[in-house]
Amino acid sequence: MKAAASKPVIRQYELVEKLKRYNPNTDEDLVNKAYVFCMKVHGQQLRESGDPYFHHPLEVANILADMRLDHYYIITALLHDTIEDTLTTYEEIENLFGTEIAKLVNGVTKLSQLELQSSSSPQAENFRKLFLAMSDDLRILLVKLADRVHNMRTLYFVKDPEKRLRIARETLEIYAPLASRIGTTKFKDELQNYAFEHLHPEDYTSVMEQLANMPQTQQLIENINNDITKVLEDGSLKVQVFGREKTPYSIWKKIQKRNITFEQLSDLMAFRIVVTNLQECYQALGLIHSSYIMVPGRFKDYISTPKTNGYQSLHTTLIGPYNQKIEIQIRTQEMHEICEFGVAAHWHYKQKTKNKEYINPHEGTQYSWVRNLLEILEHTDNPDEFLEHTKLEMFNDQVFCFTPKGEVIALPKHASVLDFAYAIHGEVGNKAVSAKINGKQVPLRTELYNGDQVEIITAKQQEPSLSWEKYVITGKAKAQIRKFIRTKKSDQFLELGKTLLTKALQKEECTFNEKILLQNLKGSQYNNYEDILISIGEGTLSTKDVLKYFQPQVLAIPDDKIIKFKSKQNTENLAKISIKGLIPGMAIHYAGCCHPVLGDKINGVVNTGTGITVHKSSCQQLAALSLNNEFLDLTWSNSDTDDTFIGRLKITFVNKQGALALITSTISKCRADINNLKIINRSTDFWEIITDISVQNKDQLQNVQAHLRSLNLVSQVDRQ
Ligand code: MN
Repeated sequence: MKAAASKPVIRQYELVEKLKRYNPNTDEDLVNKAYVFCMKVHGQQLRESGDPYFHHPLEVANILADMRLDHYYIITALLHDTIEDTLTTYEEIENLFGTEIAKLVNGVTKLSQLELQSSSSPQAENFRKLFLAMSDDLRILLVKLADRVHNMRTLYFVKDPEKRLRIARETLEIYAPLASRIGTTKFKDELQNYAFEHLHPEDYTSVMEQLANMPQTQQLIENINNDITKVLEDGSLKVQVFGREKTPYSIWKKIQKRNITFEQLSDLMAFRIVVTNLQECYQALGLIHSSYIMVPGRFKDYISTPKTNGYQSLHTTLIGPYNQKIEIQIRTQEMHEICEFGVAAHWHYKQKTKNKEYINPHEGTQYSWVRNLLEILEHTDNPDEFLEHTKLEMFNDQVFCFTPKGEVIALPKHASVLDFAYAIHGEVGNKAVSAKINGKQVPLRTELYNGDQVEIITAKQQEPSLSWEKYVITGKAKAQIRKFIRTKKSDQFLELGKTLLTKALQKEECTFNEKILLQNLKGSQYNNYEDILISIGEGTLSTKDVLKYFQPQVLAIPDDKIIKFKSKQNTENLAKISIKGLIPGMAIHYAGCCHPVLGDKINGVVNTGTGITVHKSSCQQLAALSLNNEFLDLTWSNSDTDDTFIGRLKITFVNKQGALALITSTISKCRADINNLKIINRSTDFWEIITDISVQNKDQLQNVQAHLRSLNLVSQVDRQ
């Protein structure tokens, strides 16, 4: 492999002069100090090439100076390896160069440390950290990229072949795409070409040789160049035309992708026309199109619609003056620099040309992709999956949209407004009725585009329907819609099943025992009591089949899983209690979810076929019912009745010997009967039980609760 023509190291005064030429505000003293400090601390250290080590930071600083970046970058570059490779400390740099620079140097150091580990730990994880570190300051990333560019220029000095390959691969997979995403084409091209050279040396040599063995090409490029220049000058445009060959890596990629040979690669020739201002871009385009035959379908206007990394140009393909297919890019000098230097140039121009005509339409949101990446990183559980994804497209397959508050929501390409709503929150999705995109009202199925600001409009009574699935592409939205529909359905069936089974049990005067039921149904498709009730509700399981397990009534009763369906609480006795607001002739029963007792505020829900279910007004399930149900406002009209009601309590208490006995005796002391008691949670410290207690009214139940709460070992008592 041939040795690279390494640039002469820039001298101290040359560097300062160079900076001052493009930035008169350069802090000359600080740059000088950093230059001297860098030489001093790296001292006699050598690189693998045998060069003094400090040549490396000087080269990195010079690369950044070529991009006309300010002295913060340059000083950071000069110092970027001092913390990592010398005895220098963060505090020392902070004292000498200030906190801002110390932070930047520290940021680059962190990235370098991650790099060192990347051979052992999974690359994706490093990548993740890399981005997170970068989030502090994009300048850190630029210095790191410049560092990588110089390391790639000198990669063949690295003796360990495996290390070389690793660095090259990492460069191609991570650093080049990063450079591309922040628009620094110059870095991207260089990184790709060097990586290509090391990863596929034979292919690289072959492409380079074939490029070199096309002597006629140079002449042709010159002729075409002259021809185009003349066409434009005749149209009184002052332009610069550059013939450019594509990079070895891009040629190689094209050959691979299209499965063609080098000779067949007709569009090897490309020209760039650089003009003075925006209008001239289009004037030049007009002149070119009227002078040459345009290849249809190849025109792209990246000026009115810049790429997400800020790239702007007009692209077209022509049949050139020598019947050669040629690619043309037309852009202003500023667009050109933004293409070459990306973010860096953008900042540069922002400083320099505050009131100039050049206005980037994506100003402000242009680098939001960084935030987007961070968002995604934060929510990615599996870094490998993330890297896979990232390697492939660098997020070209995603759209990034904003909430009205400016939060970024990342979605797959072609996602809809409804996907966006579900991405914000399941409930927002479920209640969405329409949306505004950039202030304009749109339907839920509308496709989203990068940078859209989306405001979801919701309505309380809205509910998802199965047809919504057609409008969404994200897994999250699909899952939420299905879940909603499933839950809604099974809630209804559960309630119905419970009612049917209760009625059947009452009719047969059976005692229900969940344990026996589950034992008998073991191995069947039913996993739990709820499943059985849902199946009864759906009609796939008959109450008859269930009842047979409880006949004849010779079941062992004392069991912690027993729920007695006391006949006292049945329809026929309800007449005595007399609730106001009922529909005469309709059966009524108490809801199993909230166990209303006399004195509670209550509501009724009318279920066709099964009668009226009485809920506590505060019941969660009642609240969750759709408005399609018929609701009744009910009140107790008779407060002195002999009837008893079942109240359900959840009690949490300290796991101590005798605790359970104390609780049951406390309940008895309040002259309430325990109908059922079920342990729902046992940890080493606490137990949780659910107990059904028959009481005469709410006051008695509250009395029980108060007594229980007064016990030291009881931590919580709640009605269920
Ligand atoms: Mn370095």
